Amino acid sequence: MACRPTDLPPAESIDIPAIHEVYRREREKRLRPEGQGQYFEPAGQFAGAYESDPHMPVVPRAPIMDEIDVAILGAGFCGMTVAIQLKEAGVANFRNIDWAGDWGGCWYWNRYPGIQCDNDAYCYLPLLEETGHMPKQKFEDGWDIYQHSVRIAKHYDLYPHAIFHTLATSLRWDEQAQRWLIATNRGDAIKARFVVMAGGPLNKPKLPGIPGIGDFKGKIFHTARWDYAYTGGSGRSPVLDKLGDKRVAILGTGATAVQVVPFLGRYAKQAFVLQRTPSSVDFRNNAPTDPEWVKALKPGWQKERQQNFHHGAMERFARGEPDAICDIWTEINRNLSVEFEAEGWPALSPEEYAARREVMDYRVMERLRNRVDEIVKDKTTAAALKPWYRFLCKRPCSNDEYYETFNRPNVKLIDVSESRGVERMTEKGFIHNGAEHEIDCLILASGFEMTSDLKKRWGIGAIEGRNGVSIYDHWADGFKTLHGMMTHGFPNQFFTGFTQAGLNATNSVTFVSQGRHIGYIVSEALKRGATVVEPSEEAQAGWVNTIRDTAIDMSSFARDCTPGYFNNEGEKNLRWYLGEPYGPGFYAFEALLEEWRGRGDLAGLMLTARMPELV
Ligand code: NDP
Repeated sequence: MACRPTDLPPAESIDIPAIHEVYRREREKRLRPEGQGQYFEPAGQFAGAYESDPHMPVVPRAPIMDEIDVAILGAGFCGMTVAIQLKEAGVANFRNIDWAGDWGGCWYWNRYPGIQCDNDAYCYLPLLEETGHMPKQKFEDGWDIYQHSVRIAKHYDLYPHAIFHTLATSLRWDEQAQRWLIATNRGDAIKARFVVMAGGPLNKPKLPGIPGIGDFKGKIFHTARWDYAYTGGSGRSPVLDKLGDKRVAILGTGATAVQVVPFLGRYAKQAFVLQRTPSSVDFRNNAPTDPEWVKALKPGWQKERQQNFHHGAMERFARGEPDAICDIWTEINRNLSVEFEAEGWPALSPEEYAARREVMDYRVMERLRNRVDEIVKDKTTAAALKPWYRFLCKRPCSNDEYYETFNRPNVKLIDVSESRGVERMTEKGFIHNGAEHEIDCLILASGFEMTSDLKKRWGIGAIEGRNGVSIYDHWADGFKTLHGMMTHGFPNQFFTGFTQAGLNATNSVTFVSQGRHIGYIVSEALKRGATVVEPSEEAQAGWVNTIRDTAIDMSSFARDCTPGYFNNEGEKNLRWYLGEPYGPGFYAFEALLEEWRGRGDLAGLMLTARMPELV
């Protein structure tokens, strides 16, 4: 059935300047001078939020002293797709190093109740056609996504390459040996010709710096290390039957908490939801996979669908292009397409398109605020649950039970926006508006180090390139890369994710693209007998200029948003979480890389060979 536009409040009924003023006030209310500094890293009494593994024991082993061609730091979707592309490029001597006990990255760690992917699974799960797998529903369960990671690893025979339960603690380029020296928390000393940073953005939990949090004597854990021994149930059967006599507070109302809260409402004696900024929560409309649809799919369907999703979520639909995804991510562009069609598809400049999109954004957000009133009975609670910011200032959510949960007598929303976060913890609970609320358990749905501070995001103390220069200093004033994947002075090192590369609405598509490019460069370097590959300063400067010249300016949008990880918590030194993507778009970037590889001259890279037979 064709996807229809949504029923929205008419544009005339929306007073954009007045709403914009509310957006501004709501943002100001939440800004904190410490910015990213309001969070602290899991250490000391909170080290378990990162260092523990509730899913699998960490088994003692002897240190590894291997010498390998490629070390891939990460074994989630990014690390896996890089590994596969290396294999396909003929590079077999690589290892994936990861703190998790298995493949899957965030899908290994996160097994909290209700966990599902909020994105269309037919796009998000990588390599569906290649592995012959079809998700059972549009928004797939976390456990099944973890199982898909295992399926991929088996399909591509990746297990022999894994070094699990191992955290890289430092990376140092040894100019003499022409190798990266990798130290880990297991006493390893691994030498690698090449190293790929494939940690992804969701590897390291961050904790809220609430005054007195260390004094709390009750149970406390982060959602990425869910303690089923305490709550009852398991990742596969989240029946939290041990919470029946417990008073539980959950801190945060982001994408994770929105999925968890209905379970707390169902099982806890009392659930407090500590909210600073509400998420927008649309209806979910999750549906089982239609076998007739599957039968009709033609080879290449996943790439086609991913492209359609990218247009709908990040660019715009072409004339006549249907919306195959049909959910909250594509609503704005779907509705605009219908309007444009009625107008004979006018040729709009980027500015004119942005203006039309802005109006649609306000209408969609108004629809989402109205949705709260339709479901939540208590007027004060409903008012506090309304999101006052533009679409994509925060990750949009969908859930069919979240708002309903606030109608339960055992669930209470605690709005901590006025105090810019939870006021204080005590031995017994939390303080709100001067009153102590006693609780047995505090669950931190406080997110991850998705900050532009790479040291925090990667969690690796020292990364030193040539002459001991730290990557953190090298990029202190912004990225300097060729194609977002290599930087001068850091030979044989590759970067993935949100840098100065193409950005796809589906992360796994971005990773596959970067993996392909990295696989190509590594295999060519090895074939050509090079011991060192790095971009020339000129080529790097050229790419940085290309990025800046083609950039789509997000700064005014980001500055107007409520603080969060997207906009560096509103810090003055604004850096957009998604890096500096290539302005002409992901598929233009793909074409550019393909053309670059097709030429075969590795333009912009300097290759040196120091092996005796080649000097
Ligand atoms: P988020 O960073 O999105 O949310 C953290 C929450 O903690 C926010 O609501 C934040 O409030 C709140 N918070 C932080 N400090 C305080 C404080 N001192 N007092 C009160 N509240 C506080 O983390 P999530 O784990 O929810 O999501 C992180 C990311 O994980 C998502 O963006 C998404 O990329 C991914 N994810 C993906 C899913 C999927 O379906 N694919 C599902 C779940 C997560 P404030 O907003 O005011 O800062």
